[in-house]
Amino acid sequence: MSLLKKTKEILLDILFPRFCFGCGKEGSYLCQDCQSCLDITEDIFCLCSVPKRLVFSRNMNSAKCTQCLSKKLNGLFFPLSYQNNLVKELIRQFKYDPFVKELAKPLAELIITHFQLIDKEVWKDKILIPIPLHKKKLRKRGFNQAEEIAKELANRLEIPLLLNCLKKAKTTSPQAELSKKEREENIKGVFWIKNEHLIKNKKILLVDDIYTTGATMEEAAKILKKAGAKEVWGVVVAREPLSN
Ligand SMILES: [Zn+2]
Ligand SMILES: [Zn+2]
Repeated sequence: MSLLKKTKEILLDILFPRFCFGCGKEGSYLCQDCQSCLDITEDIFCLCSVPKRLVFSRNMNSAKCTQCLSKKLNGLFFPLSYQNNLVKELIRQFKYDPFVKELAKPLAELIITHFQLIDKEVWKDKILIPIPLHKKKLRKRGFNQAEEIAKELANRLEIPLLLNCLKKAKTTSPQAELSKKEREENIKGVFWIKNEHLIKNKKILLVDDIYTTGATMEEAAKILKKAGAKEVWGVVVAREPLSN
């Protein structure tokens, strides 16, 4: 690390000390102890609301149960359950506090640990695309949390990151306040594709922070496949299984 960068980091530490969201210890937003207490899944589960554990190997081109074969997403990778209170807190802080942008690093690390647990090189021949935010929302929030996680993943896994392909056309009502049916309606037609040639025949890891009903990811996968993507896999920090 360069001296300038090191000095900048020390200064930032003094001016803005970080405290662990789990135990309050000073030094980082997620300390080693709290991180090691998180129960990272060693399996892959289906997309459906009653998650089923699946047999998975790197060469498989989808990981879904028979009821989900018509879905556009090929499968979903997630290290954690959104039921866990610390996970909930980390994601909430990351979404709404512009000062904790660097939480992307430990969150991406959790995803990588999950990848390593299920199959060492599941990312190998793939490219990363984050779920985009609408321009207006991006300006308001300051950064796109999905993009920050995707950037960290791209750095660590050394695979390409495409930020100029999947775009969001309009602002939508917050998904969290809607029912499953309303979510599907709300998200319909919101994405569009730029630079189609960059995704043709590609295997894509589509990144977001959480997966709830999956309506957003499914809509994005639909449009990416229409544009010629070969595979589209969801990658999130946590999933919330819903049964409605
Ligand atoms: Zn801690
Ligand atoms: Zn299923």
